[in-house]
Amino acid sequence: MKAIANSGPGSCRHWEKNMNIKPKPTVGYLTDGKGRWWRSETQPQCSDEDVFGLKCQGVWGHRGVHWSYKQDGSYAYWINESDPGSIEKGIAAGWTPPDHESYVHPRDKRSEYYVTHHSVEEVVDPLVIERLENEDPPETDAYVDRPLSPDEIKYLEDTGRL
Ligand SMILES: [Zn+2]
Repeated sequence: MKAIANSGPGSCRHWEKNMNIKPKPTVGYLTDGKGRWWRSETQPQCSDEDVFGLKCQGVWGHRGVHWSYKQDGSYAYWINESDPGSIEKGIAAGWTPPDHESYVHPRDKRSEYYVTHHSVEEVVDPLVIERLENEDPPETDAYVDRPLSPDEIKYLEDTGRL
């Protein structure tokens, strides 16, 4: 009988969520339609969710607990396994209503909020501008946002959408 090669427990291939691979920032280009262009870059949102499916509002790779705000304004938080020191008040997860003394106000989370991790800078490289004018951004997955042309505005007006 032939021995079946035992490649060990480490060889078990199973699908893993790519939790530690940082997604790329969202890049887009905006123009005034008169030759000026701006590059917008937004950092990715933390992908962690609490047991109820509430998605963390922090920027990717943040320290401290994962957090979000519930519909009623309560501050929800849960442990961040990649930051073992992140437990708040010795509790792994919970939420605090707005009228509670230990409520964490949204303004205090602004610096961690992924939407604030956003930058805009004017494109000055003429070669990049030329590409953008031809709808060919340097990043293949970048969006290009142009103002509507007079014809497009007329079409929207004629179809009752403007
Ligand atoms: Zn998070």
